[in-house]
Amino acid sequence: MLKGVKVRKVYEDEIDEPAREKKVKILESQFHKQKIREKGQQFDDIDEDEEKSDRQKTKEERNKENQKKGEMLFQQRQLQKAISECEFCLSNEKLSQYYILSQSSNVMLVLPKQRFYNSYTHLLIVPMEHALSIRDVEDDTYEEIRNFQKCLIGAFDKANMECIFYENAFKFKYVPHAIIECVAIPYKISKEANINLYFKQGMDELDGFWSTHKKIIEIHKNKGGIRKQIPKGFPYFYVDFSLKSGYAHVIENENNFSSNFAREILASILSVEKSNVLSPKVRTEQEAKQENDQFQLIWKQYDWTLALTRQ
Ligand SMILES: [Zn+2]
Repeated sequence: MLKGVKVRKVYEDEIDEPAREKKVKILESQFHKQKIREKGQQFDDIDEDEEKSDRQKTKEERNKENQKKGEMLFQQRQLQKAISECEFCLSNEKLSQYYILSQSSNVMLVLPKQRFYNSYTHLLIVPMEHALSIRDVEDDTYEEIRNFQKCLIGAFDKANMECIFYENAFKFKYVPHAIIECVAIPYKISKEANINLYFKQGMDELDGFWSTHKKIIEIHKNKGGIRKQIPKGFPYFYVDFSLKSGYAHVIENENNFSSNFAREILASILSVEKSNVLSPKVRTEQEAKQENDQFQLIWKQYDWTLALTRQ
């Protein structure tokens, strides 16, 4: 067992829980709170308005009320649609077992369906709850994500590689499923390339030449990490270098940011063709199975989830 890794026991009743319904309810409440923040308390005034009888309401009030109800209904449908189509929500069974490398109570380690780099050195840490970002997941889930990160650092270190973690948390209106990507880089490359600087410069450029406000936030564990240092509800990009140091950037203009931002930087560090990142090949089930087997050789000594099943 790796030092510092916390283990939480899996209880039977947690597995049998109707997780899907719970997820929809949590997300509805999160979205409603976010709308109140964006639009002011009036978004939450429907109940008060309903206390007035229809006779007392003006035409304008009735129109406003219908608009609010329509908006809420639309969001509810959008959420349900996103969850039912989400490839990372296990209830949908779209994710073949071969892509899942390891799994704890609330988090799984997955091979991406698209192959941006070679072999299993690009992995996804995926919470099972359909949260919009790591900023939003439950505390237990976050603890398990950290466990996976610590164990990946240990496993790849043994294979002479360093772990870079990053998260693209944006376009919340499409109700995305939060993911932390992990890319392992051979030490012989990472020691020569100043990876931190590559990212810092790239993030500086995201702000645009004319911007006077550089919005790079240095993420520190003693300041509470990403979950305390980024305000809730804001889109952001976050990169972390082996959990030693990290940067985050609040994305002001979502149209100027690409989910390939970190992938392009890493492709250039790893001397991978940019086309691999921009139009990646699909990883077949057969390939995933082979790479899963290869990964287990370096992972089995560090797999903290084995301790869960032994308890
Ligand atoms: Zn999902």
